[in-house]
Amino acid sequence: MTNDILIIGAGITGLSAALYLKRNNLRVMLLDKVNVGSKKQTSYGNAGLLAASSIIPLSSPGLIQKLPNYMFSKSSPVFFKYSYLLKLMPWLIPFLKNSNNEKFLSIIKNIHELTYDTVEQHVNLTKNTKASKFIKKGKITMIFENKNEIEQNSRDLEIRKNYGFNFKKICNSKFLKDYYYLSNNYDSGIEFKNHGWISSPQNYLKALKTEFLSIGGKFINDEVKNIEKNFVTTMSNRVFKAEKIIISSGIWSKRLLKNLNHKVNIEAERGYHIVLKGVNFLPPNPLMIINKKIAITPMENTLRFAGIVEFAGIDEPEIKSRYNFIRQLIKNIMPDLKWKSEDLWMGQRPSSSDSLPIIGKSDKIKDVFFAFGGQHVGMTMGPKVGKIISDLILNKKNNIDLSPYSQNRFL
Ligand SMILES: Cc1cc2nc3c(=O)[nH]c(=O)nc-3n(C[C@H](O)[C@H](O)[C@H](O)COP(=O)(O)OP(=O)(O)OC[C@H]3O[C@@H](n4cnc5c(N)ncnc54)[C@H](O)[C@@H]3O)c2cc1C
Repeated sequence: MTNDILIIGAGITGLSAALYLKRNNLRVMLLDKVNVGSKKQTSYGNAGLLAASSIIPLSSPGLIQKLPNYMFSKSSPVFFKYSYLLKLMPWLIPFLKNSNNEKFLSIIKNIHELTYDTVEQHVNLTKNTKASKFIKKGKITMIFENKNEIEQNSRDLEIRKNYGFNFKKICNSKFLKDYYYLSNNYDSGIEFKNHGWISSPQNYLKALKTEFLSIGGKFINDEVKNIEKNFVTTMSNRVFKAEKIIISSGIWSKRLLKNLNHKVNIEAERGYHIVLKGVNFLPPNPLMIINKKIAITPMENTLRFAGIVEFAGIDEPEIKSRYNFIRQLIKNIMPDLKWKSEDLWMGQRPSSSDSLPIIGKSDKIKDVFFAFGGQHVGMTMGPKVGKIISDLILNKKNNIDLSPYSQNRFL
């Protein structure tokens, strides 16, 4: 039987689209090469932040000056595999060019459009489902070593303020009292209210899948090899037909697009996590250390340290020394923390050269749609991207201008 919709990739983006489309009584098939909740998904291991205010892209004015430090300093949280640099150039050069002020401000506007109402979007997606219990509402605190560091971030804080994000600076004795569990390497913080986080990305994804199946959706565990007009072929030589096909395959979308003759400039911004199990203390809300590109999230009796940025390509195995970098940070941030065991993970953020996702309809192959490229905030924007793509397919009015997210912008 032909499906109405076939979705390739069941991370947060594909699952969100699948649920919205299934709720509209369409025959929806989700296809994934791994099982939902697998460690191989980027949606599995992220920091879980519903980071409404994380609207500042890495490619910001001043990036070019920071680059030598990122490349050569041992304390930098950005890593390059030198033998990969040449291959990275077609992405890195436009990425650097996009750090000019005008582009920077337009990127912020277009990220904000997809992130500002994230908690509401996750709540709507999961209403009356078992997934809703994983959504936690609360503040996220950025922590700083000193006021100078806050000063260095003043431009970005001002931008956030202008977009309506209320925050409160906490310094001196108030900081020491409220954040007593941090080392004295940190002496100030900025609290962003009305944010949220997912208390277990893995179980959240599984609960979304369970919901999808319970309303009649189909899930197939197979890898798509090729997409052609209204059908896909898989690695096990099966063929699945559909009226419409959505590519929501995260960083791997790049490979599927090659055969479709679409040029999308997307690169793996790899990141790592260490989940500490059996900890003697859990902070009440997530913390972010902007300068170290690390988030610390309390998750169901575990504490997740997730972040850093690494450029080494999609196929490179994890580089174990990155865990030591995170372990050093843990010591530096929370020296009294004790734990019984660790889970280690490396994942790949799907990041385009202008830090915006690719959302829309192919103009080359009829009935093929794109929904990928959530970079550092793909968990945050996943439900909204899923809703946008389902509205597009259902011809429902949506007030978002999709031109900034078009696949043709890389030509
Ligand atoms: C360390 C780290 C921390 C992060 N922290 C946050 C955070 O706090 N907040 C936030 O908003 N975001 C965060 N992110 C980013 C976020 O995790 C990603 O942007 C997001 O998960 C991408 O979701 P996705 O559904 O597009 O991709 P994925 O979750 O990777 O899903 C893509 C799916 O497609 C499948 N697939 C690929 N190719 C094929 C094929 N050919 N056939 C069949 N299936 C295929 C894959 O198996 C996979 O399941 C973080 C990322 C990292 C690495």
